[in-house]
Formats: sequence, C-alpha cells, structure tokens
Amino acid sequence: MSDTYPNLLKPLDLGFTELKNRVLMGSMHTGLEDRFWNIHKFAQYFAERAEGGVGLMVTGGFSPNLVGQLAPLASTMNNRATALLHRHVTGAVHEAGGKICMQILHAGRYGYQPLIVSASATKAPISPFKARALSSKGVERQINDFVSAAKLAKFAGYDGVEVMGSEGYFINQFLCERTNKRTDKWGGPYENRMRLPVEIVRRMREAVGPEFIIIYRLSMLDLVEGGQTWDQIVMLGKAIEQAGATIINTGIGWHEARVPTIVTSVPRGGFANVTAKFYGEVDIPVCTTNRINTPEKGEEILAAGKADMVSMARPLLADSEFVRKAEQGRSDEINTCIACNQACLDHAFQAKRASCLVNPRACHETELVLTVAPVVRRVAVVGAGPAGLAAATTAAKRGHKVTLFEAGDRIGGQFNYAKRIPGKEEFYETLRYFQRQIELLEIELKLGTRVDADSLKAQGFDDVVIATGVKPRTPAIEGIDHPKVLGYLDVLRHNKPVGKNVAVIGAGGIGFDVSEFLTHDFSHHLEGEQVSVADWQAEWGVNPDFDGPGGLAERQPTPSPRKIYLMQRKTGKVGGGLGKTSGWVHRNSLKHREVEMLRGCRYERIDDQGLHISLTDKEGKVTESRVLPVDNVIICAGQEPFRELFDQLSDSGVNAHLIGGADVAEELDAKRAIRQGTEVAAKL
Ligand code: FAD
Ligand code: NAP
Ligand code: SF4
Repeated sequence: MSDTYPNLLKPLDLGFTELKNRVLMGSMHTGLEDRFWNIHKFAQYFAERAEGGVGLMVTGGFSPNLVGQLAPLASTMNNRATALLHRHVTGAVHEAGGKICMQILHAGRYGYQPLIVSASATKAPISPFKARALSSKGVERQINDFVSAAKLAKFAGYDGVEVMGSEGYFINQFLCERTNKRTDKWGGPYENRMRLPVEIVRRMREAVGPEFIIIYRLSMLDLVEGGQTWDQIVMLGKAIEQAGATIINTGIGWHEARVPTIVTSVPRGGFANVTAKFYGEVDIPVCTTNRINTPEKGEEILAAGKADMVSMARPLLADSEFVRKAEQGRSDEINTCIACNQACLDHAFQAKRASCLVNPRACHETELVLTVAPVVRRVAVVGAGPAGLAAATTAAKRGHKVTLFEAGDRIGGQFNYAKRIPGKEEFYETLRYFQRQIELLEIELKLGTRVDADSLKAQGFDDVVIATGVKPRTPAIEGIDHPKVLGYLDVLRHNKPVGKNVAVIGAGGIGFDVSEFLTHDFSHHLEGEQVSVADWQAEWGVNPDFDGPGGLAERQPTPSPRKIYLMQRKTGKVGGGLGKTSGWVHRNSLKHREVEMLRGCRYERIDDQGLHISLTDKEGKVTESRVLPVDNVIICAGQEPFRELFDQLSDSGVNAHLIGGADVAEELDAKRAIRQGTEVAAKL
C-alpha cells in the first residue's frame, strides 16, 4: 500500500473476492466492442490496463437484446458464441492479474435504430427514432434478457456485470415521469416506476449466484426536468442493495441534460458531493465518478469519506499505467486526461473507434506498437508544440538520441495559449507530462533556439522532424492594419489590452476560446485556477443540495465584463464545427454571457467607427448592413502552415519528416498533431 495514497490504494473486500485497490475503470464505449473481429484488440486494450494495476474494469455497454442496441449491429451479449469469444478478453485480463465486469446497457429510446422500445412511446431529442411503448409482457422480456446477458457474462469469464441504470438509458426512462407515462405496475407512483431495476437486480442475483459482482449504476442526479427527487433516489438505492447488488456506482446526468457533466470545464471532482450525500444510505460499497483524473483528487475524495471507490474512465484511456505510477510515487509521470472528449466520446458519438488525444495508442495497442529501435539514430525535432513533443518523446522511448529545438522560452507551442482559457486549465497537465518525459528520457532540449536549415545540416542528424506549427491567417479586409485590430496571439500571448466592446472574426475553436477568455474578468477565480464547484453549480443551474426533481436550479451566470460579437462567414450554426460532445457547452456558455453570435457575415471594412459588416442569407443575398461600434477587432480566422524549414531541408537531401500544423494547418488540432508525431517516431 502506498504512503501517498493510502485510501486510494487500499484493497476492497467484497466478501467473496477482493479488489486490489479502490480504482474502478469506468465503462467507455470504444467501438472495439461492436465487431467480433476486433476481439483481440479489445482484449489487449484491457490487458494493458490490467497490467497497469487498476482494481476493477468495466467494459463498454453490451445490449441484452436487439431492441436495446445503441445502433444497428452495436455491441450485444445475447448468445453463447459471442460469450465464448469474450473469453479472449477475460482470459487476457485475468492473466494480467486484473478483474473485469461487463456492462449491460439497454439504450431504450436513446438507441439510434428503428427497433427501439421504452416505457412509453416517446422520442429522445438525441435520436431521430421514436421508441415503441413496451407491453407488460415486453417489460418481462427485457428483464429476462438482462438476466440472460448476466449469465452469459459469467459464462464468458467476467468477474461480474454492471447494470446501466443511469445517463437516461432504458432503466432511467422507467424511473422518471418525463418518460414513463404507464398506468400498469411498471408506471405511476415511484414504487412502480422503480420496480424494473429492482426486479432486474433481484432476478439477476438469483440467476448468477452470490459470488459474482453486480454493480448497479444508480442515477444520483438526473439533471433533467421531471427527473427523480433525492428521496426517490435513496429509496431506489436501498432497494437495489436489498435486491443483491455488490457495489453502487454513481451516474450523473442524462445524455440530453443541458448541464455538462464530464467536459474539461467541469471542475475536478465536481460531482463527488452527490455521492457523498448518498454515502451512508447503504452498507454496500459506493463508487463516485466524473472528472476525477489524478490520484491526488481520488485520494482527497476517499480520505474525506465521500465514497469507497472512485471511477476513472478516460484517465485510464489516457494512461494505462495510471495506478502503477501512483503506487510507485510517480504521479508526475502520469499522462493526465484533459477531459477534451476529442478522441474518446466525440469518436463514440460518431461511430468511430475511440482513442485519446494525449495517448494515440489507446484502443490501438496492437497497431501502434513502440518497439525498441534496431539502430540508434540521432534525431532532431524542431518545434516543441504537441506534435514535436510527441515525436521527440516517442523516438527517445524507442532508444533514439533526440535533440529538441524550440524557438520559444518554454515547451508547449499553442498549448501555452489554450491553457489560459478559463475551463481549459487541464491543458497545463499535458505540458507537465511532456516536461517530465523530456527529463526522464534525457532528451536534449534547446529552448530559445530558432534553428535554420544550415545549422541542422551542419549537425548531421540522421533524421529531422519538422514540427514548426502554424501562423495565424490574416484575412484581406479593408482596414486590417487599423490599430484596433489584434490577433489572438496579441491577446493570449502578448497580453495587449482589450476594450469593452469587441468583435471576434472567426468562430472556430480559437474564436470561441478567445471569446470565453474575454467574458471573464478573473475576479471570481484566478487565471489558471479551476472555478470552484459552488460557482460552477450556480453558473450551470445545479441545485447545491441536489434537491428537487432532477437536482436542477435556476442558472446564475456571471455577467461578462465586455460586449462581444462572435462572427463567421458561413450561414450554418455558429460553432457548428466544434466538438460533437463539447461544442454545445461552449455555445451555451457564451450565450449565457450574452455574446452575440452572427453568421453569414461579410466583413466590409474596419475604421474608427468600428467593424462594418453585411449579413447574408444562404443564397448570399445581403439582408442587413451593420456597424459594430467596437474598440477592438480580434482576428481568429484560422491558421496557415509554417513550413519554410521543411521546404529548405527536403531539397538538400536531409531525411526530413513533416508533422503537425506545419504539415496541415486546416482543421488541425492537437489530436492529429500528437498522433502524427507519435506515428512518425514509431517508424524511425
Ligand atoms: P504548435 O503548437 O504551433 O508548435 C510549434 C512550435 O514550433 C512552437 O512552439 C514554435 O515556437 C516552434 N518553432 C517554430 N519554428 C521553429 C524553429 N525554426 N525552430 C525552433 N522552434 C520553432 N487543439 C485541440 O485539439 N483542442 C483544443 O481544445 C485546442 N484549443 C486551443 C486553444 C487555443 C487558444 C489555441 C491557440 C489552440 C488550440 N488548439 C487546440 C490547437 C492546438 O494547440 C494546435 O493544434 C497544436 O498546438 C498544434 O501543434 P503543433 O505542434 O503542430 O504546432
Ligand atoms: P478553425 O476552426 O479552422 O476556424 C477558423 C474560423 O475562421 C472559422 O470560423 C472560419 O469560418 C473563419 N475563417 C477562415 N478563413 C477566414 C478568412 N479568410 N476570413 C475570415 N474568416 C475566416 O481554426 P481555429 O479556430 O483557428 O482553430 C485552430 C485549430 O485548433 C482547429 O483545428 C480547432 O479545431 C483547434 N481548436 C480546437 C478547440 C476545441 O475546443 N476542440 C479549441 C480551439 C482550437 P468562416 O469561414 O465561416 O468565416
Ligand atoms: Fe481524456 Fe481527451 Fe483522451 Fe478523451 S481524448 S481520454 S477526454 S484526454
């Protein structure tokens, strides 16, 4: 047991089995579950995490039948042939000393397929299909299928199952009035509405016997109108314990909730107090969850007596060795999940295989293999942004001798500006991780060194990796040289003063981030510090006592110190290109601070009066002309590659490789930069 994290790393006795520590790797849909031919990739993904020392893992959701599938052909556990295949997974995990449960997830009306069923005939705002209401017999069939899936999971060698009772899926739909309009014994008063999960767990326990883990994911905070009240949740939790569950895990928020629950702007451990309020209502272990991404935060929560276990899902995607590093007192070496959702949840919601922005090997363990280099090469990496950092550390890990040149006075490239945005403080962690890797791998880091082609040639490197990044685009607008025009780097790098009325040209990720930055005056929280949980709850309308249906309260957003116009030329939704699962949070946050979003903009000119624009419709016809009386116009109009060095080197016979923004600036993001850097270095 570690002195540093005595609570987190303490074993947990479940009576018939023991977990080696209190870390649960929560369920995540990776996309590998959906196709049988990926079973070995799926097994290796879990095996590496079992080797990394996590106490218990839960797979992504498996439907107990076809009507409960998330999408056509999505992961299902309904026959013995599939169960046999899963022995590859359970075998690999057990061989690596781990334990694993299979999640049973019935999507109900959240399914993205036409066969969906629910308590009542309703349509979810996040599915184009309307669910069919189940008959009483139909409800019984679903329960039987849940039980069968658990038996099959046992046959497949799993240590247990998790019953998904939260996040607005099938079971949650029975629990809440908003989706359950039934009048039979499965609807009406709460005692009837909660009958479904209780019957599932009770019959499941009878079927699987006493020595099989049943985790029940209890929706402790629905965060939707017509959600459960606190008393109801406690009543259900107690009944679930009675029915035979081994562990109660915390579920927060329906997918259709308009309160963010896991994106990076949610403060760390932002929902631990929900579990803390429930803790003590039952005698079985209770697990807390959401935005816990460091061993320190996990330890703090457990030491404060808020739960028995902590669930960390994405942090284990970001670093399979999370627990091992914590045990060995090497938490500064953990590749921390920055809660961006860019490669995990965004991929899952686009039916793409998940991975991780900071760890491109995640879910690609059998494909992106880092072998020891057969011959040690002298490698120069130019540019210490995300792309260069990934390339340098990967090459050094493989045994190459690496020199990393950076023109600036610190590593990080554009991440140094991203980390300044309120709600993106986690980006500091990526830079801390890379800084530590540079030290451990003995990479020669040359800061303040803008290298040119001649000096690189003279030093005779075997390989030169060019990761010189991007330069901001300057659009051709009349008056672009006016003193009131600033670039985003003027704001985020050079701290130039910005007036009270501001126009932001360009509504991509950076336009949104700059607007977010300018809507804060940093009097509530200091720059670089995460907002407090209480302030965040007020901002997003979460009842601090979690009382009332769904635990909602009136929103009290902090007013912006500036009037901001955020603009794009496209006529589609402003910010339509932002992340699938995080874009709505950015849009919503700015709307509540009264940022005026304008689309179909034509930028006519900038002068002493301000910014002159024409607004156009979809056909390009001008519908309105306006002068925005602004003190500053801030240009966030995308980027262009900065790759002169590569052009010079590639003509001179040097073995040069181009990565990151220097390669493709358009729609570049750190996910691609880090993946490209890792892949290039994996082949050197
Ligand atoms: P850069 O980060 O631009 O790094 C290039 C580096 O090369 C720089 O440090 C530069 O000084 C150095 N360099 C250049 N020429 C030389 C030379 N000749 N010699 C030595 N050094 C040189 N991406 C996301 O995925 N998610 C986000 O949420 C996100 N938020 C962002 C928020 C802001 C405010 C900004 C500005 C960017 C954000 N990005 C985000 C974009 C992301 O930061 C970039 O995609 C990423 O940094 C590109 O990485 P890179 O290594 O290719 O280039
Ligand atoms: P971007 O996403 O490409 O957005 C550029 C914006 O500028 C667009 O709104 C574009 O919209 C506008 N634009 C392009 N050319 C223009 C021109 N000539 N004149 C006027 N406007 C122009 O780029 P970015 O915002 O600079 O972001 C850079 C990268 O970092 C992106 O890949 C982005 O995904 C990533 N990033 C991600 C996040 C995140 O939260 N995930 C945050 C920040 C950055 P119109 O063409 O409609 O005007
Ligand atoms: Fe975390 Fe982002 Fe990686 Fe997802 S992609 S695991 S949110 S760092």
